[in-house]
Amino acid sequence: MKLVRFSTTPTTQPMIGITDGMGVSALAAAVPEAPTDVISLIEGWPRFHTRIAGLPNFDLELAEVCLHAPIARPGKIYAIGLNYADHAAEGGLEPSKEQVWFTKPGTAVNGPYDPIERPRVSTQLDYEAELVVVIGRRARHLTRSEALSAVFGYCVGNDVSVRDWQVKTSQVTLGKSFDTHAPFGPWIVTADVLDPSDLAIWTLVNGQERQRSRTRNLIFDVAAQISHLSEAMTLEPGDVIFTGTPAGVGAARKPPVWLEPGDRVRIAIEGIGHIENVVVDEQPRAAQ
Ligand code: MG
Repeated sequence: MKLVRFSTTPTTQPMIGITDGMGVSALAAAVPEAPTDVISLIEGWPRFHTRIAGLPNFDLELAEVCLHAPIARPGKIYAIGLNYADHAAEGGLEPSKEQVWFTKPGTAVNGPYDPIERPRVSTQLDYEAELVVVIGRRARHLTRSEALSAVFGYCVGNDVSVRDWQVKTSQVTLGKSFDTHAPFGPWIVTADVLDPSDLAIWTLVNGQERQRSRTRNLIFDVAAQISHLSEAMTLEPGDVIFTGTPAGVGAARKPPVWLEPGDRVRIAIEGIGHIENVVVDEQPRAAQ
């Protein structure tokens, strides 16, 4: 199943729906007792999923609605670094024997087709195509063989990065934390219909291919990542994990090529779909 957050106009309240990739069915009318926020729905999924699977009439055209990030404010967003050997090598680094983790804040969450901002304080804006995992249940101390049972589903994500802020100290987190720099979607493909172990993943910038790999090239696979994180913390429904990017980022090109206003970044993953975000200069934003 593909779970979406959508609205019929850009300014109306997002709703939950399911899609077949062409049409959308709104949940609220068909299953009125279902929660209206995605994290609560994921928590209650065992109670609702059979009825939700039975509801589709896909009466709204997907092309006519606005898609939002599938989860507006995940409890946690964790992202692993240097998790494809070719990406580590293009940065002149050895793959780490330990998993290298950083976080992205809730304010970085962005919709699958919304603009990415080039910050006021940097021009070194870069893309990273990543498979995104959505956690489905509370979990702690999972073994590798148990780990995938905690997955609700998968999305396409862009771990947008501000390279000078990423490398100016030994801690990369601020360079990964700018507003709008965690677009993901376009929907959540539920884990019962997608095996994440060998999916094609690629990036086009203005139609030109910049990254292409397969998820079988992950150094630490999805199960290893979840197992390791669960040793440190309780994973919860709606937590989001960015699983690493392959070679081909702009920073590694000779000379480096940064994203500029007007650039169109499309990231796609086999079996899920694609997201596409246009770069704009940082927009004025209210303090609240
Ligand atoms: Mg990354």
